Amino acid sequence: MADVTGDRSPLGDSQGLGRAVILLGPPGAGKGTQAQRISQRYCLPHLSTGDMFRDNIKRETELGRKAKPLMERGELVPDAIVLGMVADRINQPDCAKGFVFDGFPRTLQQAADLEKICGEHRLGCTLVLHMAVNPELLMRRLTGRRICKAGGHIYNVYERPPKREGICDVDGSQLIHRPDDSEGVIGERLAAYDRQTQPLVEYYKSRGVLSSVDAMADADTVTQGITRIMDGVKAPR
Ligand code: ADP
Repeated sequence: MADVTGDRSPLGDSQGLGRAVILLGPPGAGKGTQAQRISQRYCLPHLSTGDMFRDNIKRETELGRKAKPLMERGELVPDAIVLGMVADRINQPDCAKGFVFDGFPRTLQQAADLEKICGEHRLGCTLVLHMAVNPELLMRRLTGRRICKAGGHIYNVYERPPKREGICDVDGSQLIHRPDDSEGVIGERLAAYDRQTQPLVEYYKSRGVLSSVDAMADADTVTQGITRIMDGVKAPR
């Protein structure tokens, strides 16, 4: 993906950011798109609980069997299941210098668990980027979203269509419409966000680690807003 903001940050390869970067926002806020870009620019692994679950479902693991019906209904997977999976991933060596998380934490319990894990890994204070978008735009983004089967590249048939319909510009693979991106399920996902995830905004605000990003703008403008915030954050010593 193009680096729309110029050169890589000085906090690149060798140093890492030394922090967990959390993208917090409703489904359709653009967390996945921005996480891919941040991951490239700051050389941080991109972790996505949604992608981890979809991978488990594809491989027909026990975890995938548990998550599938809940995801199909737009409900959250229970905290205990999510946490085990996340802890295993953060224990991998590539996460030692920080990571960018999209889709986690989604409940207050998950936020508390993440804080504990970051402490154990001696990561500096978490940076939370809150991506705010109004509900009408979310619906349009989600119903129009198409995802590349091979590389996870994200398109939108209204806002960011591929050059050839149904085909990824980057790797030529097929674009799919996620089953939970249908209108009925989207309503459930947005309700779950309001009920269970929205309280995290106050939680992180009160800890002084929340920065707000206007996620209504086009993707490149949002990336510029995020990199301005991240470039202002120093790696912990
Ligand atoms: P989106 O953010 O666009 O809703 P994701 O791909 O992040 O999509 O998540 C898809 C689904 O996976 C969610 O609706 C939920 O069922 C499950 N899921 C993902 N992350 C979590 C999490 N941290 N806690 C509980 N369930 C989760």
